[in-house]
Amino acid sequence: MRIFNTETKRKEEFVPLEPGKVRMYVCGPTVYNFIHIGNARPMIVFDTVRRYMEYSGYEVNYVSNFTDVDDKIIAKANEEGVSAQEISERYIKECKKDMEGMNVKPATTHPLATQEIDGMIDMIETLIEKGYAYNVNGTVYFRTRRFRDYGKLSHKNLDDLRAGNRSLLVTGEDQKEDPLDFVLWKPKKEGEPSWPSPWSDGRPGWHIECSVMSKKYLGEQIDIHAGGEDLIFPHHENEIAQSECCNGKIFSKYWMHNAFLNIDNRKMSKSLGNFFTVREISEKYDLQVLRFFMLNAHYRSPLNFSAELMESSKNALERIRNAVSNLSFLMESAPEGEMTGQEKQDVQAVTEYRKKFEEAMDDDFNTADAIAAVFELVKFANSHAAGATKAFIALLHDEIVRLCDVLGIIAEVKEELLDTEIEKLIEERQAARKAKNFARADEIRNELLEKGITLLDTREGVKWKRA
Ligand SMILES: [Zn+2]
Repeated sequence: MRIFNTETKRKEEFVPLEPGKVRMYVCGPTVYNFIHIGNARPMIVFDTVRRYMEYSGYEVNYVSNFTDVDDKIIAKANEEGVSAQEISERYIKECKKDMEGMNVKPATTHPLATQEIDGMIDMIETLIEKGYAYNVNGTVYFRTRRFRDYGKLSHKNLDDLRAGNRSLLVTGEDQKEDPLDFVLWKPKKEGEPSWPSPWSDGRPGWHIECSVMSKKYLGEQIDIHAGGEDLIFPHHENEIAQSECCNGKIFSKYWMHNAFLNIDNRKMSKSLGNFFTVREISEKYDLQVLRFFMLNAHYRSPLNFSAELMESSKNALERIRNAVSNLSFLMESAPEGEMTGQEKQDVQAVTEYRKKFEEAMDDDFNTADAIAAVFELVKFANSHAAGATKAFIALLHDEIVRLCDVLGIIAEVKEELLDTEIEKLIEERQAARKAKNFARADEIRNELLEKGITLLDTREGVKWKRA
């Protein structure tokens, strides 16, 4: 398996720190609103990386945080006259709903910044003790020039950065020793959430959060640190500085970044009116279509979102789903027993498609080529399933479903009943029972059972639940 490492700017063979295990950290969203489709890209991309790692036999410890204290959250709370916590809790819940819709697996751990303040204070104290940080009037800064490797991820040169930042010296940040120094802890302003610390009642800077959460849940050294390319500088560069100066070890072996997302060939922005939340997209499309659309591009290529491209993704996904449902249908009446001699040979062809899929994914997660391999398999299935044995059709069916599942694409859609449909059937069953038509009543119970709905006859009436 080869991964493009942002730090070395080349594809490298993936060798985990510990055989068979992957420790992976993905920077999560700041929760002050519904997530937008730009936030969705890293979620989908790195969930796919995780799924492929698991398919390849690795045990993946996947950590992705929620930044639940931030200027934007505080601003939104003030706007609504509620607490910052109420805002962050609300949008974490909504974010998780969107993740479920996109079939993004919950992380092994989703830490919250506000629950990890003690760890942040500890790390900042260590950095001060080691001479990498200093306190000025309650604000703690990181002494950037003390870290010799600063700039190694973003390939920026400190002197160039300093020249570009000289203007900061005259904009009220003159309490810093150097314009490149960044904040680790800042004192609270009126009406802001705050925590006591040795330096001031205040809150952490954004960068220190990830260094601390990554260390707590994954250890001082991790295999993969990932996020959107907009995080390379300064966020990830600063995380490296903090973690490596505190722990004295290389922080992450591989750095992965997804490219940005445009809307109709323009940068997504609220002011341009081309800003979409995932929730808005879900009103028009199954979010599986959004996932499929995103995986049709390589994660390091810029992606352009348009209604036209979403339509074609929808059609492409339907082609796969139709093939799968057709295979299920053919299986019902297909002959039992052993595969024919020809079919046994054809199994080899199926294996070749899987190999193509794996080769594409092993090459820095080339999901576009992996999807192309799935389509070749679909085409093969469409032309070889009619008249085949049940065993061979089942093999085709399961192979397509399994490869799609590695991409987080649900190829087999189980028909789900809506709550109202369930209640209507229950009413019909009650009426049948009243009319002593027990055959019909049982029929309805079984029909519901097949769709994963169990009925409970209680004294208060019939209750139901989904399996
Ligand atoms: Zn981060």
